[in-house]
Amino acid sequence: MTERPDVLIIGGGAIGVCAAYDLAGPGCRVTLVEQGGLAAGSSYGNAGLIVPSHIIPLSAPGALTSGLKWLLDPESPFYIKPQADLKFTWWLLQFAAHCTPAHVRHAVPVLHALGRASMALYEQWAALPGLDCGYQRLGLLTLFNSRQGLQAAMPDVRLLQANGIEAQMLDGAQMREMEPNVLPGIVGGTFYPGDAHFTPDQFVRALAGLAGQKGARLRTGVEVLGFERTGRRVTAVRTTRGDFTPDEIVLAAGAWSPALARDLQLNLPIQPAKGYSVTVKRPATAPRIPLALGESRVVVTPMNGPDGPVLRFAGTLELAGFDFSINRRRVDAVARAARSYLPGMDDLETVEIWRGLRPCTPDGLPIIARPQSLENVVVATGHAMLGMSLAPITGKLVGQLVRHEPPALDLTPLRMERFL
Ligand SMILES: Cc1cc2nc3c(=O)[nH]c(=O)nc-3n(C[C@H](O)[C@H](O)[C@H](O)COP(=O)(O)OP(=O)(O)OC[C@H]3O[C@@H](n4cnc5c(N)ncnc54)[C@H](O)[C@@H]3O)c2cc1C
Repeated sequence: MTERPDVLIIGGGAIGVCAAYDLAGPGCRVTLVEQGGLAAGSSYGNAGLIVPSHIIPLSAPGALTSGLKWLLDPESPFYIKPQADLKFTWWLLQFAAHCTPAHVRHAVPVLHALGRASMALYEQWAALPGLDCGYQRLGLLTLFNSRQGLQAAMPDVRLLQANGIEAQMLDGAQMREMEPNVLPGIVGGTFYPGDAHFTPDQFVRALAGLAGQKGARLRTGVEVLGFERTGRRVTAVRTTRGDFTPDEIVLAAGAWSPALARDLQLNLPIQPAKGYSVTVKRPATAPRIPLALGESRVVVTPMNGPDGPVLRFAGTLELAGFDFSINRRRVDAVARAARSYLPGMDDLETVEIWRGLRPCTPDGLPIIARPQSLENVVVATGHAMLGMSLAPITGKLVGQLVRHEPPALDLTPLRMERFL
C-alpha cells in the first residue's frame, strides 16, 4: 500500500513534532512516522531545560582539553572514546578546529537568535489549551562549591551580558536567598532568569496531540528503511508499513539521521553524544527551581512524572559512537554529584535510569537546511544539547523551508554544505 501525504516527517522527537505542528493545516497533509513511540529518542529523559541563555557552542576553547584531561577518568562528565573510525576522526578534527574564540564569535549570535525566537514561541504556546507539560519560567541557577569554579564562570556571564542576556553573578548569601536548600560549602552561583523548564516527553506528546487536531497523522511503530531517488528528487520512502510517496520529506531523526541520510547520498557530520539521567521521587528538600551543579556539570530539574512530582539529575557527554549501553559508574557519578551540593539527597527512590544520544555537529550549530543535492528534502537535526530549547523555532523554520517562504532567521550558518 502506498500513502501520498504532502509532507512526510521522519522522527517523532521534539524536532519532528514541532515541524508537524507548524506544517499541519487545511492546505497541507502531513504524516509523521516514528519507529518507536513518540519521544522514543533523546527527547524523552533529558533535563527538560529551555535555555535561551545557552549561546556558547559546545565547540568552544577548552572543550577538547577538558575531554582529554578526563579521558582516563571513568566518572568524568566528558568522555571521548578512542575509535578507529575515519568519520569519527574527521569529526573530532573538525570539532577541534572549531574550538576557537573566532568560532565562538560566529556562533553566539546564531544561537542567540535561535534561542530567543524559540523562547518567544514557548511563551505563546504556554497558553495553548492541551499543552500540559509543567512549563514554568523560573530561571536556571548554577551553584559552585569552589571559588575557582565561580571565578571561571565570570567570563561566560560577561559574554552573555554583553549580548543582552540577563545573567547575574551571586555571592553565597544572594544565592541562598534564592535557593536556601544548599550545603554550607556552596560559595556562590550564577543566575539566568530568562530560562524555563518542563517535562520533555509530556511536551512532545501534548504538542503531537495538538498537531493531530490540526490534521497531522502521527504514525508510531513505522520505521523508515530507505529511499528511492530519481535525479535530485526522492520519489518514495520505504518503511516497515509500506511505501510513502510524499512531495516533501523532512529528516528529523536525531542521532539516527546520518544513517538514514547515507541512503540519500548525504553525508551528515553528526556524532552521537551519550548522556544519562536519573529520575527520583521528589524529596522534601528538592530545589524549587532548576539547578546546574557547576563543577560536576550535572543539572537538577524538578518535574512532574506520570505518578507525581519527581526530580531529575542529568549529565555526562560521552563521544563513544552509536552505543546505548549504560555505564553504571557514570550513572552513579551523576546521582552522587547532587550530594556534594544539596542536602537530603541520600536514600532517594529511583524512578528511572535513562540514556540518550544527542546529535552533535562539529561546530555546535544545528543543521536546518535543504541540501543542495536534493530538491524535496529538508534536514533538521544536530541540535546537540539544545534540541528541546530550539525545537519550536526549528519547527517554524522547517515549515518555511517546506513552503518555500522566506525564513524568519538567516539560515546561512545552518546550511549542510558549510562542512564541505
Ligand atoms: C542527558 C541529556 C540531557 C539533555 N538535556 C537537555 C535540556 O535540558 N535542554 C535541551 O534543550 N536539550 C537537552 N538535551 C538534548 C535534547 O534531548 C536533544 O537535542 C533533542 O531531544 C533532539 O531531538 P530530536 O527530535 O532531534 O531527536 P530525538 O528526540 O532523538 O528524535 C528522533 C526520533 O527519530 C526516530 N527515528 C530514528 N530512526 C528512525 C527511522 N528509521 N524511522 C522512523 N523513526 C526513526 C527515533 O526513534 C527518535 O524518536 C539533552 C540530551 C541528553 C542526552
